[in-house]
Amino acid sequence: MVNRERMVGEFMELVKIDSLTRCERKMADTLKSKLEGMGLTVFEDDAGARIGGNAGNLICTVKGSRDTDPILLMAHMDTAVPGTGKNPVIQGNYIRSDGTTILGGDDLAGVECILEALRVLKEDGIEHGDIQAVFTIAEEGGLFGAKNMDYSKIYAKYGFVMDSGGSIGTVAVRAPAQNKIDVVVKGKAAHAGIEPERGVSAVQIMSEAVANMRLGRVDEETTANIGVISGGQATNIICDRVEVKAEARSRDRAKLDRQTEHMKQCFEKAAEKYGGAVEFESELCYPEFNIREEDEIVSILKRAAQDAGVELVLEATGGGSDTNIINGRGIQAVDLSIGMDKVHTVEEQINIDDLTKSAEFLVAIIKAV
Ligand code: ZN
Ligand code: CA
Repeated sequence: MVNRERMVGEFMELVKIDSLTRCERKMADTLKSKLEGMGLTVFEDDAGARIGGNAGNLICTVKGSRDTDPILLMAHMDTAVPGTGKNPVIQGNYIRSDGTTILGGDDLAGVECILEALRVLKEDGIEHGDIQAVFTIAEEGGLFGAKNMDYSKIYAKYGFVMDSGGSIGTVAVRAPAQNKIDVVVKGKAAHAGIEPERGVSAVQIMSEAVANMRLGRVDEETTANIGVISGGQATNIICDRVEVKAEARSRDRAKLDRQTEHMKQCFEKAAEKYGGAVEFESELCYPEFNIREEDEIVSILKRAAQDAGVELVLEATGGGSDTNIINGRGIQAVDLSIGMDKVHTVEEQINIDDLTKSAEFLVAIIKAV
């Protein structure tokens, strides 16, 4: 049975460990010793060395006695900022930070949920198939741990990522791919008062391009945003260079390509009109995933929800997570809510009932495979 006291105690312990992105060493060592304490073997890959971090992804394969499809349980070890010196406090049914940092429930509640589920399997002698528990590094800011993971060690067929918000039973089954877009708009400098005719304003090119662009929610599964604009030196100089950082997302790859091309054309047309130039670079950050209602992983979730008395809510998210990366690696995966709330703010909190419920749901999932 899921043990509430044990979960709260261990969650508080984990949250107090500083574990910023690329600085997960202490967290990795703590988790390793906990898993080894359960009699499990932990493999640490070399992703940390490859991305300039001090710890790798942890992969812990738990052999099962049942011949069912192997599954992946996943949570990330790093936390967002401000996240050093975290001091969690229990207030009634909630665990919160002391208001000076984030809490770190994103994603240490996911980590705790997996640890508790593994313990419960053993204690209660629950029959299960092979389970691969994976704790990634550097999810925040780029999914770098999942992107650089040693996939030769992974043979799971289905993935359950514990890293989402909402009521327990909320599961993200669809998420967009994202293109990261970097643009340099080039004009020509000239004195703005004496000979403006000789200049080409990169600001004007950029402005016209952006004004003509479809942005925001482009359609039901596509979004786009201009996030950062920088450039210019002084009011008396025609600006000759503007840098733009933007993104486009869609659950449909063809639509993503179309939106990206549209943004490129807006810049190019404006540059041509004013006699400037554009360097437009687009890079796929992560692929989309679209789990269908008839997929086996949904049947597993349905059986588990019924068993755990959880209301299953299958939804689409606009965000990206490690779930996108492992789907891209051929492991059909979904992202489950662990009840984390107001993440990436100093008001972050988690409801203790949700924390325990998420572990009960995860145990039910393992049974339902
Ligand atoms: Zn997260
Ligand atoms: Ca996050």
